[in-house]
Amino acid sequence: MAWYPIGESSYGDLRGQMQYVNSERIAQQWLSLVRDFWARFGYRLSPNEARRSRSRQSLLYNAYLRNGYPKAAYPFTSRHDEVLHGNAIDMGVTDAAGRNRALTAAEFAWAQQRAELRGFTWTGRNFGEPWHIEGATRAEHFPPYPGITVSNALGISPVPAPEPKPKPTPKPATTTPVGDIVNTFIVRLGSKKVPFLVNPETMRCMQLNETQTSFWKARGLQEQRDGQSPAIVSSFERVSGKGAA
Ligand SMILES: [Zn+2]
Repeated sequence: MAWYPIGESSYGDLRGQMQYVNSERIAQQWLSLVRDFWARFGYRLSPNEARRSRSRQSLLYNAYLRNGYPKAAYPFTSRHDEVLHGNAIDMGVTDAAGRNRALTAAEFAWAQQRAELRGFTWTGRNFGEPWHIEGATRAEHFPPYPGITVSNALGISPVPAPEPKPKPTPKPATTTPVGDIVNTFIVRLGSKKVPFLVNPETMRCMQLNETQTSFWKARGLQEQRDGQSPAIVSSFERVSGKGAA
């Protein structure tokens, strides 16, 4: 079966993965819907998921059995099944920063209606999924835009692209500023009890001096006797600088 690209997902573990449907016409109508949505709302409609591989269906279903959520169709019965269907698309929005969000109620209402003018049916209405549409399931009221592809779908931008935000400079990990979330614990080194601070983000570890121990105690944190073995502690990088003993 030939597969036709409809744009990248920004959703969960599918982020950055191109999505596909099983017909060129459905792809063109989806991309036309993306262009319509952009012109109407100034946001990029994107496929959270379209074709779903059989291995992924099994994976999702096993996770559902294990955890009770998120709900997943019995393997190979999904409307996204890569063998039996391939015409289903779950709609999402990718914002200017590349983050995924759900459509608003107004956006869903508009997109569902518009999709049905482009040969899709919002079949999700039957199972509580406002995002789920299936292509080539009804007559088209509009043809797709001629020559539309994934790369030109948005056409001319109706809103100026926002300035890219400068990336925040990462803080040097050699200090643990007051107010950071830190784990504290006491280790015994020989007969000596030594308090440490560990930054859970960087897993960097620093020994506390007495002033900082007072600060730590003032926060009412519990001493964890032998909470960490010296072997584990020694695998941490000990850093010097502000706050180090
Ligand atoms: Zn779906």
